[in-house]
Amino acid sequence: MTPVDLDDLVRLLAPPPGLDMSWQDQALCAETDPEAFYPGKGQTPDQALAVCGRCEVRTACLKYALAARERYGVWGGTTQDERRAMWNETDDENEGCAA
Ligand code: SF4
Repeated sequence: MTPVDLDDLVRLLAPPPGLDMSWQDQALCAETDPEAFYPGKGQTPDQALAVCGRCEVRTACLKYALAARERYGVWGGTTQDERRAMWNETDDENEGCAA
C-alpha cells in the first residue's frame, strides 16, 4: 500500500475552488452532534434532518453539497441517497443534451 501524503490528502478533502463557503459561519449543525449527520447502519438521519429543517443556510448548504458531490452524510436537509437520486436525474438529463 502506498503511504498517503498529508498535504495531498488535505488538498483532496478541500472544497472545490470557486465555491462560496461563507454559509458555514451560520451552519446550525456546528452546534450539534456531528455524528448525527453521518448515521451508521441501522441509524436514521432523522435527528440531523430536524436540525437542517431549522437551519437558515439550508439552501446554500444543499447547493454546495450538490456542486461538490458530497457523497456521504446529511447536507442541506437531504440524505446521501436523496442527493444521489438528484445527481442521477441531472446526469440522465445532461446525457440527452450532448451535442
Ligand atoms: S442545512 Fe443542515 S447540514 Fe447544512 S449547514 Fe444547516 S444544519 Fe448543517
